[in-house]
Amino acid sequence: MKIYIETYGCQMNECDSAMIRSMLVSAGHSLTSDLAEADVVMVNSCTVRERAEQRVLGRLRHLRGLIAKDAALGVIGCVAQRMGKRLLSEVRGLDFVVGTDRYALIPDVVEKAGHGLKRVETDQDDSEDYGDCPGPITASLSDFVSVMRGCNNYCSYCIVPYVRGRERSVPHETVLTEVKALVRLGMRDVTLLGQNVNSYRDGSVTFARLLGIINDISGLARIRFATSHPKDLSEELIDAIAGLDKVCEHIHLPVQSGSNAILRRMNRSYTREDYVALIGNIRKKIPGVAVTTDVITGFPGETSEDFRATLSLMEEIRFDSAFMFRYSVREGTSAGALNDDVPEATKIERLKTTIELQKGITTAINQGLIGTLLEVLADGPSKRDASRMFGRSRSGKAVVFECPDECAGELIHVRVTGCSAWTLHGEAEARQKDLARPFDGC
Ligand code: SAH
Ligand code: SF4
Repeated sequence: MKIYIETYGCQMNECDSAMIRSMLVSAGHSLTSDLAEADVVMVNSCTVRERAEQRVLGRLRHLRGLIAKDAALGVIGCVAQRMGKRLLSEVRGLDFVVGTDRYALIPDVVEKAGHGLKRVETDQDDSEDYGDCPGPITASLSDFVSVMRGCNNYCSYCIVPYVRGRERSVPHETVLTEVKALVRLGMRDVTLLGQNVNSYRDGSVTFARLLGIINDISGLARIRFATSHPKDLSEELIDAIAGLDKVCEHIHLPVQSGSNAILRRMNRSYTREDYVALIGNIRKKIPGVAVTTDVITGFPGETSEDFRATLSLMEEIRFDSAFMFRYSVREGTSAGALNDDVPEATKIERLKTTIELQKGITTAINQGLIGTLLEVLADGPSKRDASRMFGRSRSGKAVVFECPDECAGELIHVRVTGCSAWTLHGEAEARQKDLARPFDGC
């Protein structure tokens, strides 16, 4: 059968979709990017904010009209896990619903789909780590590997622990095998993923040790990881990041709010002062490190004073970049029971203020990089201007640059000559290493 998969949400969902594609291909199915010829269409969904969920539901309804009449339509992932069989009545013509711990059943679901049979598979299994799934079939230059699933943190606003279950670490041998397989397929930059990746543990292998193990893989140029929780970013880990040559100088460390009262109600288990001290230590030990974050505006009870504390923290830390969201009530979370008392217009206004502030900070940091030399992994032609290349620096910054020859896949030294708000511009000066040469083992 020909299968079409569309993915929404975080990198973890992208990673899950890649794993499901491998399962389907090894079960004898083929993949298609053409909706019209698909026998089975599935949407891997995100429920972290209400708008993300609404977008998925809207897309499913729209897809039903686009695909062949006898093609089966399914939803998998976090919305599937949260809503279960309710989805069958929400979306007319939906054939199957598969939750986050039931992906191993997808080849069977696909096999039997499309005969009027409605199927819902949403049992949770906190031991499922998909360790025995078939290996990857394709790789991107920069790719992702899930090393953990689930989350035990129960931040009060967050639906993730409910739809992805308890925290579990993928055995380090499995991670190693997958990273090596992706390197063989052309990956040069790996991002190790987990909702709370720094609490990784497989026996005596901590996340810091896992980084050391991955660092030894030949043919791999860079290692990144996401997402870190401030409570788990240990001294051992900071030292590992500082000491391992392939681990990039970039830490994504969501702070969410600058107000201690809000942080407490968010159940984040650190104070503003803890966070500031942690960043101080990271910057002392890892020169040139980029720090990025997530911020939520309009959490229940957020006063204008609380909000000013978030702005002042952003000014104090000067993040390289930030993802900023307005609070969205998630049914079933503990904050979902609080009075959502910040008016929508205020949430939006505050969100705009954080975005403007961050834009100014990011621009100023980028301007400070003009004239410096950055190591950039060339990814491919820029989407906006195909005559120039796009790549990322070790610190994760987007760089668009002039390069006289084809250089995708190579590490290039780029002299920064200018910047816009979120992108650096530059010119290639030297190729550091020829990573396009054939992979020589591991
Ligand atoms: N595990 C990661 C990311 C989880 S979801 C972490 O702990 O940081 C990504 C981001 O979405 C969160 O960091 C948070 O900023 C945002 N988010 C999660 N739930 C939200 C909600 N109910 N409303 C608004 N933003 C939310
Ligand atoms: Fe959600 Fe908090 Fe877990 Fe991140 S750490 S996934 S925000 S509960």
